[in-house]
Amino acid sequence: MKILRDLEPGGSAWLSWDKETVVGAQNGSFMISVQTPPTLEELGRQVLLRNEALAISALEKLPWTLLPALFKDAFNGGHTRIVKALVTAWPFPCLPVGTLMKTPNLEIFQAVLDGVDMHLKREFHSGEQFQVLDLRNVHHEFWNIWTGREDGACSAETVNERSVVKDLPRYALRWRHLKVVTDLYLRLHLNEEQTCFLQWVQQRKDFLQLHCINMKIWTVPICTVKEILSVFHPGRIEELELNTGWDVSTLARFAPCLGQMRSLRKFSLARICRNTFGTGTRTADREERCISKVIAQFSKLHCLQHLSMNGIFFLKDHMKQILWCLRNPLATLSITRLHLSQSDLNYFPLSHNLRQLKHLVLRGILLFASCLKPLGVLLEHVAESLQSLDLQGCRIQDSQLTDLFPALSKCSKLTEFNLLDNDFSMPTLKDLLGHTANLTKMNVEQYPAPIQCYDDYGYILVERFAQHCLELIDTLRSLRQPKRILFSTDPCHECGERCVYDLGPRLCPCQR
Ligand SMILES: [Zn+2]
Repeated sequence: MKILRDLEPGGSAWLSWDKETVVGAQNGSFMISVQTPPTLEELGRQVLLRNEALAISALEKLPWTLLPALFKDAFNGGHTRIVKALVTAWPFPCLPVGTLMKTPNLEIFQAVLDGVDMHLKREFHSGEQFQVLDLRNVHHEFWNIWTGREDGACSAETVNERSVVKDLPRYALRWRHLKVVTDLYLRLHLNEEQTCFLQWVQQRKDFLQLHCINMKIWTVPICTVKEILSVFHPGRIEELELNTGWDVSTLARFAPCLGQMRSLRKFSLARICRNTFGTGTRTADREERCISKVIAQFSKLHCLQHLSMNGIFFLKDHMKQILWCLRNPLATLSITRLHLSQSDLNYFPLSHNLRQLKHLVLRGILLFASCLKPLGVLLEHVAESLQSLDLQGCRIQDSQLTDLFPALSKCSKLTEFNLLDNDFSMPTLKDLLGHTANLTKMNVEQYPAPIQCYDDYGYILVERFAQHCLELIDTLRSLRQPKRILFSTDPCHECGERCVYDLGPRLCPCQR
């Protein structure tokens, strides 16, 4: 009865009460499997996919609303000839095929590109050309709208009927522009699909509009990157991740391309090493010139909002220069795994482009010898906007943390806070938690286990760990209700795992 009640009125599910559908009977209750029979449309598509010649010849006469579902099935089933024919006849303004490319399949991808070529060579009618080929693997409503459709209200119109529009003069065809939108993730070597695609666009770049929105470059030689950027104009890239292992001299050769990225909103730079000039010519001046050339490009990135730099050696003593060059207030500043000088820190609160920060990450930057007062002033400036603060692994100590207390207590929008791998005593942690009473939006907060939880050799004292963490959580609960709070030790000397206290102690394997 329950099953019958749950069936939607007019739905296509059916219930057949025979031996096959009763798949289990345990503890006096039946488990029923409900089969959904294929709809007429689905059966029609199956017939077409089994008979490619029939499918291709029938395309022009098919209601155009059926084409997306047929395309999806043909694409997923690897029916290259049907895919090619469908792209050739594609009647919608956009073909968001990237959403369907879950696993690499060179044949089917080649069929799409061949179909685009055929589409461009057809006897054109202005109403039936598509304008955008979207190769990004991003959610696209198109397929949900057209393949989830149940009523056939518009389906009586066929491709041919839609084509009855004024023909364009043949010469106008030269001016037709198809926009190709893609993301490119290049790692070590180009894969077969990327090679095929880049050759294809290279030959057609004069009459295609090529947009690469998100580019990730991992360990790719600069000549390959430059070649790609000669096809995909840097001015259209919105997100760039450079993780190349280049030295700063190579990065300086890339700098003019970076400077052209006027639409760049998000820039992530990692793994840049010192120059490896020959010993005879190696000079600090030369390296400094390369660094200045790279930093100067930041003044051209007028849209930049999110800046992330991981282990970039030249940031030390250059933060002022970089922050001074920025032309747009940052929402995210993430600097990890490097040293910052006191003068770098001193400039943070002076930069107007850091006054709207939502996310500040200074992870793995050793600050135990620094004065944190400038960081406190910066937190005062961003108290109204800051949503996440990550100071993991900075090895901050008791006396320094108190410089952050007044500002921290005002960061009422904070939802994530990470202070792991710092060295605080029990009284300082209690004091810290006392200053977080107003941070009621906090979703996740992570604190280091107090230093009293370790013995003289840095080994964890399990009972004390559990006792202190419980006491700290109780302290916080008397002020506000934390959603997710955890205390964590440094990684264990033996196994590398941490002991964590959240709902109770979770110990590393050697302490269990
Ligand atoms: Zn362990």
